[in-house]
Amino acid sequence: YRPTWEGGQYKGDEQHRLSVLWTAVEHGAAYVDCELRAAGRFFAAAPKGVRERSTTKIILSSHNYDNVPSEVELDEIHAQCVVAGADIVKIAAMVKDITHIARLENLLARAKSATGHKTIALGMGEAGQVSRLLAAKFGNFLTFGALRSGAESAPGQPTLSQLRDIYRLQKQSTKTKVMGVIGNPISQSKSPVLHNISLEAAGLDACYVPLLVSDIREFLSTPLFVSDSFTGFSVTIPHKEGAVMCCEELDPVAKKIGAVNTLVRLPNGKFKGYNTDYSAAVRTIERAYTSHLDGDMRDSESILRGKTIVVIGAGGAGRSLAFGAAFKGAGKIIIANRNFERAKALAAACGGEAVALDELRNGALKGDVLANTTSLGMYPDSVDETPMPKDALQAAGFKVVFDAVYNPLETRLLREAKECGCTQASGLDMFVGQAAQQFELFTGKKAAESLMRKAVLADMGLDYLVNP
Ligand code: NAP
Repeated sequence: YRPTWEGGQYKGDEQHRLSVLWTAVEHGAAYVDCELRAAGRFFAAAPKGVRERSTTKIILSSHNYDNVPSEVELDEIHAQCVVAGADIVKIAAMVKDITHIARLENLLARAKSATGHKTIALGMGEAGQVSRLLAAKFGNFLTFGALRSGAESAPGQPTLSQLRDIYRLQKQSTKTKVMGVIGNPISQSKSPVLHNISLEAAGLDACYVPLLVSDIREFLSTPLFVSDSFTGFSVTIPHKEGAVMCCEELDPVAKKIGAVNTLVRLPNGKFKGYNTDYSAAVRTIERAYTSHLDGDMRDSESILRGKTIVVIGAGGAGRSLAFGAAFKGAGKIIIANRNFERAKALAAACGGEAVALDELRNGALKGDVLANTTSLGMYPDSVDETPMPKDALQAAGFKVVFDAVYNPLETRLLREAKECGCTQASGLDMFVGQAAQQFELFTGKKAAESLMRKAVLADMGLDYLVNP
């Protein structure tokens, strides 16, 4: 019954609508929500004695589908709702930039300390979603969840099961610590599923949320998001380079790579930046390399020392791999990339040498480890492709072949590498590893890696691998 003039779907007779709402009151509905703009005629339409007899709480609501009003305007709307007779005040506003959420959360804090009036202040749209996912943490009286995906009654509304099972809304309190992933786009990110499952397993009062951020500097200078409630952030495309400039301290390898994917809040409210992409990729390769070794030989810390590492790709993942190999003392780092200029630049920066992709394909190259960091082989468009044909793989004599692509789990490159007798190192291990290392930096506790892995597989529709 939300009318079209308030952004709803009801176009019918207003008196009929109001009488239906009062029928709900007469039948003992716990809450009835009416628009602030209709409050006067709504209360005037009350059948005699109904309100006095009922225990129904009246929510008076105001919706702004354009933007988040200023703090002064929000206070005015709040006061109007109270004066008009609201038991609970509700304000929903379209969030065009995530930093505007601070106005809604400040309103909640003021309402609590000044009037004590029960209040709901929620952001609409994807950028506003975090105000819904953290509704209890921020002190909202209630929030809204769709019964299923596609049945949302407002833009950016999560489903009930997401609120309950992933973001554990019922366990949130004002003390709940928050972590999140900064990116744009962000709705496809698997990180919230991975981190929340691990937070729950560790018994931590903490929640991990997706953050649609357009300007990372502005985001990280918004007092709400740098308050001590927010302990750290993951960073993904397109902010990994920009995040470097927002760090007071930098892990030395992250500095060389020129990209961070993890920001940990320091006690002074500033951030230290890390790159767990590189450390997870290197660890994945080291583990694969040592999997066939015995005893002392399994010193994975030094296993890449002196080895020849061939990296295909010179983008973000390629840089992480190349600098990671250099950090581990690789003897020779060879960069092959479609854009040869890019290969040369990365090779110069990490002390390696550049080759053209064709050179890689003609079988002349030898090495210990091959790492594909291009998207070749990825579902759905290039599953039949490989960056290095099987005969060239055979000739190269690699011990370990790593593929950053993890969908499909076994790419053509990895399948053919196994057929050539190489040990496979999986992109899924890197993906879970980078998240697990972030978790440990954020919380100081061990991540539940096996649960994280199960969560990714389930998210990819590969549940049969979870419970074969
Ligand atoms: P990026 O910065 O955009 O770099 C893409 C790289 O792939 C560039 O070197 C590009 O070459 C190359 N490339 C793209 N299409 C190609 C093609 N058709 N033929 C040959 N080379 C091609 O991307 P990124 O962040 O490094 O990610 C690259 C891949 O790694 C993606 O599949 C991503 O999903 C995966 N990844 C996995 C993890 C993990 O945790 N497993 C983490 C990060 C990334 P040019 O320079 O010539 O354009």
